[in-house]
Amino acid sequence: MAPISKECDFLVVGGGSGGLACARRASGQWGAKTIAVESKYLGGTCVNVGIIPYPMLIQLISCVPKKVTWNAAAISETLHEAKSYGFNIEQTAPFDWTTFVKKRTAYVKRLNGIYEKNLDKDHVEYIHGRAHLVSKNEVEIVSDDGSKETIRAKKILLATGGHPNLPPSTPGSELGISSDGFFELEKQPKKAALVGAGYIAVEMAGMFHHLGTETHLFIRHDNFLRTFDPMVQDKIISEYEKQGIIIHRNSSQSKVEKLNGDWKRLHYKDSNGEGTLDIDCLLWAIGRAPETEDLGLQKAGVEMDGKGFIKVDEFQNTNVENIYSLGDVCGKVELTPVAIAAGRALGNRLFGGPEYKNSKLDYTNIPSVVFAHPEVGSIGLTEPEAKEKFGEENIKIYKTDFTAMYYAMMEPEDKGPTSFKLICHGPEEKVVGLHILGAGCSEMLQGFGVAVKMGATKKDFDSCVAIHPTSAEELVTLK
Ligand code: FAD
Ligand code: NDP
Repeated sequence: MAPISKECDFLVVGGGSGGLACARRASGQWGAKTIAVESKYLGGTCVNVGIIPYPMLIQLISCVPKKVTWNAAAISETLHEAKSYGFNIEQTAPFDWTTFVKKRTAYVKRLNGIYEKNLDKDHVEYIHGRAHLVSKNEVEIVSDDGSKETIRAKKILLATGGHPNLPPSTPGSELGISSDGFFELEKQPKKAALVGAGYIAVEMAGMFHHLGTETHLFIRHDNFLRTFDPMVQDKIISEYEKQGIIIHRNSSQSKVEKLNGDWKRLHYKDSNGEGTLDIDCLLWAIGRAPETEDLGLQKAGVEMDGKGFIKVDEFQNTNVENIYSLGDVCGKVELTPVAIAAGRALGNRLFGGPEYKNSKLDYTNIPSVVFAHPEVGSIGLTEPEAKEKFGEENIKIYKTDFTAMYYAMMEPEDKGPTSFKLICHGPEEKVVGLHILGAGCSEMLQGFGVAVKMGATKKDFDSCVAIHPTSAEELVTLK
């Protein structure tokens, strides 16, 4: 072990959404002597961050570059739809992927600078390096040049996030990329195959398709987004097919062969039998695993669950006193605002004095959005979950499918779906699930999320006067 170079109140391992939020709260708000260690780029998976200049390979991951790319795909949809409103728009060249990626990288780099400034402002010392526990209160940090130092801390937070699951042992699977690789693509693939059925596969398939790539999505079952309400699953998959995304149901992959240049041949089986597909991009989006391998958890005695996620209680305590953990590495709800909220609550509890002794994140009714085309918003229980929990006879479902006014001017093939569902429980009809899909739903959900979190009933929804003409008004006039 390297000699002890420093001591502090609080050492945070992982400079992502959760780690930074907690470090800044502990130091900036409560004055704890705090050190944050990050091995790659400040901001973590949600923001990240190209520090090697374009056009060299960049490390760009996640929510922020994803949303910017989704915006580009949404603009492409709008350009197509503009014709129906009388605009005469001729696209003379395809989408300029290379220019777009350059601008996206510049934006993300600006964000990276902001993260460093914020740490500085809140007096958090930042160390760049890879950290691992060497005991219950000591962490060794290895810098990029191999030099080492050890820090002794009164309290330690492990917020090391996750990484994409490795592809299955299909021969040639390494010819594919993960979601990290999506953001490193310097030129637009002509024909892409994506394997997976969760948030990432569905979002990236939609973005590829709307930006002009021929898109094939390989799912293991009949449907995707299978943890969402069945209404969401069925509507989005049929809309994707209507838009031209080719869905390979009940599929598996047996081999990937290298062809010329970026091209490869995927051998697969799906509901229609065996086939091959030549593609210039193969993307595996089959879930994420916790980043714990070299963290020294055993040395400090920190327990993990069967899947390698760090075990914590509702207060983010691990089984070892003064070692805490939160965010994706705990695998509870893998979302940026969840990691941030858990980080702030923990910072308050550890250093904010008696007033905050019970501070913790309430993990119930967390809203989330899938940036599909159209967007999906969801909070609370799905219909099957509500039936299972309360019994079918104790729940009431209100739902509607309609054509949003935006599509009224369009030909039938260009009209997108809009579907809303409210799941209510008991005689007072408390809203225990709300599921919406359609244009604008990602922005719509946040406000309805507040209502559900406050325990609103159907009557409360109905008592709010509608805003006309909008899609959202349907949610307060459901019959
Ligand atoms: P991270 O943000 O992953 O941060 C962990 C940090 O720890 C990393 O920077 C890592 O380099 C560092 N680290 C790891 N090990 C060590 C070590 N030993 N020493 C030092 N540093 C270490 N969520 C949303 O809410 N909305 C979205 O739209 C969204 N889109 C997403 C799109 C994609 C493609 C992906 C992959 C995820 C998306 N997420 C989204 C999820 C979101 O990014 C994560 O939930 C969030 O980043 C988790 O924060 P975290 O702090 O737990 O981990
Ligand atoms: P998810 O856990 O959402 O989905 C992965 C899915 O891939 C599995 O559920 C499974 O679905 C399918 N799968 C697993 N193994 C295979 C396989 N071998 N072949 C084919 N399909 C397979 O993971 P993601 O990687 O999509 O995303 C990780 C997390 O990141 C999300 O859960 C979410 O919390 C977060 N995220 C949030 C976003 C947002 O807020 N908008 C956007 C992106 C990510 P099935 O069982 O149906 O086959």
